[in-house]
Amino acid sequence: MKPLSEINYKEIGLKVGLEIHQQLNTAAKLFCNCKPELFKEEPEITFLRRLRPTQSELGQVDPAAYFEFQKGVKILYEANRATSCLVEMDEEPPHPLNREAVDVALTAALMMKAKPIDEIHVMRKTVIDGSNTTGFQRTCVIALGGKIEVGEKTVPIEHVSLEEDAARKTGEEEGNIIRYRIDRLGIPLIEVATAPVIKSPAEAGEVALAIGRILRATGKVIRGLGTIRQDINISIPNGALMEIKGLQELEQLPLVVEYEVRRQLNLIGISEELRKIGANKEEIGDEFFDVTDVFRQTKCKVIRKAVDKGQRVLAVKLPRFGGFLKRELAPDFRLGTEMADRARFWGKVGGIFHTDEMPAYGITQEEIEELGKAVKAGKQDAVVFVGDTPENARDALKAVVERAREAIDGVPQETRAPNPDGTSRYMRPRPGSARMYPETDIPPTQITEEYVSVVRSRLPELPEQRLERLAKEYKLNEKLARQVLDSEHSELFEVVVKESNISPTTVAAFMTETLKALKRDGVQVEKVSNDQIREIFKGISLGAMTKEAIPEIVTWLSKHENKTVQDAVSSIGLRMLSREELERIVDSTIERNKNMIIERGANSFGPLVGMVMKDVRGKADAALVSELVKEKLEQMKKRHSTDEDSVFYR
Ligand SMILES: [Zn+2]
Repeated sequence: MKPLSEINYKEIGLKVGLEIHQQLNTAAKLFCNCKPELFKEEPEITFLRRLRPTQSELGQVDPAAYFEFQKGVKILYEANRATSCLVEMDEEPPHPLNREAVDVALTAALMMKAKPIDEIHVMRKTVIDGSNTTGFQRTCVIALGGKIEVGEKTVPIEHVSLEEDAARKTGEEEGNIIRYRIDRLGIPLIEVATAPVIKSPAEAGEVALAIGRILRATGKVIRGLGTIRQDINISIPNGALMEIKGLQELEQLPLVVEYEVRRQLNLIGISEELRKIGANKEEIGDEFFDVTDVFRQTKCKVIRKAVDKGQRVLAVKLPRFGGFLKRELAPDFRLGTEMADRARFWGKVGGIFHTDEMPAYGITQEEIEELGKAVKAGKQDAVVFVGDTPENARDALKAVVERAREAIDGVPQETRAPNPDGTSRYMRPRPGSARMYPETDIPPTQITEEYVSVVRSRLPELPEQRLERLAKEYKLNEKLARQVLDSEHSELFEVVVKESNISPTTVAAFMTETLKALKRDGVQVEKVSNDQIREIFKGISLGAMTKEAIPEIVTWLSKHENKTVQDAVSSIGLRMLSREELERIVDSTIERNKNMIIERGANSFGPLVGMVMKDVRGKADAALVSELVKEKLEQMKKRHSTDEDSVFYR
């Protein structure tokens, strides 16, 4: 496989477009009055629905939806009363479009110089996986044709839309039941779609970051993992347009793009080689062989289990595919992995076996030879086999055959989902174009010129302007200013600086580095409220505690919900030491370290302050400690200078 550095993205003609989805922190959901929140407890209500293939008005049925319907997949929806009502359950028509959400979307759209449309029309977009109780997702365009500046580049924004978020999957059980929790269903999402002008993985990351900053600048987004999700459209010439849906980790975006490019380049290479050696689609037959007898005595646990259950082992020959299934498309990701993903999706099997990875998993060379004879495979062929119910095994092998035929053509168009390691897996075929039709339950909403000018008159400052202002107004260096801009506590920073007398650099370092470090150490800093953080800094301003105590206070508060900063201070015993108490500690530290002082003279000042601070951390101000240490050393020096034997301060 080509190392990353060897891929010249410009030369290969990479094109990437992004669709960024961000949850909005509005008072209510998009089409009802429920709170846009998730719940952790056991559900109060559950209801079972059969997944039905939704038909668009043009009469098209999604093949994947129809397939799931045939399999009799049922959905168990979970809900509670605080986060959902009859609207989410599809028992009551949607309420009118949430105006607060429109406000936020319009604000973001204007910041991206997009042109608002005159009238908002809510549309239905077919959803096939049960994540919407209605079988469709409601979406509406708010503005078209914007642009943002990212470094030197102008990136066109195709549209800014509002959508309802989908239910979230909470489990999948045997017997074809999928669990979805509908608390997330209906949370407003703003969608920002760029034109496919991004030319490299790094640029994709920068564009996503820039859009994220603009959305956060509205002050109305929900924070935390899963609240922002990105769909990535990737294409290269001779490859295929691929959609990777639902990436949550922004930092991973460049890697996902890189791996997808590698995957497509490698698939193109495989297709060329296959054709060169004469592989053709007609040669790959739908003939499946029952090879259960070959594995009667097998030591392979998975196959053993299937055979013991009375299931079958079915196999198919892939002519001239020998060696190709183990080809890496991305790190630890092979053509065989692609076939297994397809088999899992269409056959509901746990996985597949193939001869490119044999002997392994307890399967012996003898069994492989028997298998080859049974399906009449030669050395140049690959054999794929699977143990399951005859129906599932057949569906799985059909999917494998389909994928093998596509490998001869090149790169199949797919919708994919990201894996945690940056690779992606098959999600479903690319849907046809006719997926949208009008939502008849919701009347259109006007966007008047007056309304637009009101929103325009109170636009927040753009991230780049804000960055400049933060650096200038608070004398932060560029790195720290940027960290503040991107931090979750960006707004809080300015509030705290204004109401305390602590230096902006100290506050900024807390909001960025200290909180990050605590989080890394496993402290749940998100449990500490903004008001509590303000209280802490007010306390430091008033001299009630020192800034060295901040990490301890935040840690305590994160573990004690509904307690105050005052509670934290008294519980930790963070009372500030009096000058007298502090003096005693300094004296005893000096006494204990007499030898060191005699030996090192003036150079002992630093270590002494360090030792005292370690003892009094959080209970005394560092400036006072060094003042006292200095004073005591001076006194000591004076005493000793009258003494003939003095070795002090030589
Ligand atoms: Zn509701």
